[in-house]
Amino acid sequence: MILPIVAYGDPVLKKRALPVEQDEPGLTDLIGNMWETMYRAQGVGLAAPQVGISKRIFVIDATPFIEDDPGLEDFKRVFINPEILEESGQEWVFNEGCLSFPDLREDISRKPDIRLSYQDEQFNRQEESFTGLAARIIQHEYDHIEGIVMVDRISPLKKTLIRKRLSNISKGLVNPGYLMKFPQKKR
Ligand code: ZN
Repeated sequence: MILPIVAYGDPVLKKRALPVEQDEPGLTDLIGNMWETMYRAQGVGLAAPQVGISKRIFVIDATPFIEDDPGLEDFKRVFINPEILEESGQEWVFNEGCLSFPDLREDISRKPDIRLSYQDEQFNRQEESFTGLAARIIQHEYDHIEGIVMVDRISPLKKTLIRKRLSNISKGLVNPGYLMKFPQKKR
């Protein structure tokens, strides 16, 4: 089932999400719906808060980026209760997009290497290192479960410059081409 993706301005995107319990009701359905919703919107990652569910889970399928980074082959994963244990290396800038911010891309600076602990779909705890784009996508999705969005990582000046565009996003004055829920949309 395709779920509406919540747009910037919705309070759920500002909340620190809660841990996922192993016997969480409806978890399998949620994961299936998150995949379906992400693919329909042509995204490479989707976090539960983006579909209005404040839980610590995100899905990533970075295979569309294989041409840019051959290391992304088979990088399709469900991350439950992830924890970034360490971030290292020289910060690098990448032009990021986000399904909650249609038509907006911003240069965001992040460290290139991370060490991540997470639970897979069977709730087995995994510990793994990621680098480059893989790390970048995880960091972006991880921000979502911490209540941080893309524009929290740009300068106040830059944020002022795009204020009107952000306001248009929360009012629904955009055409994302996928199902969305806008917090300030007038009926
Ligand atoms: Zn995002």
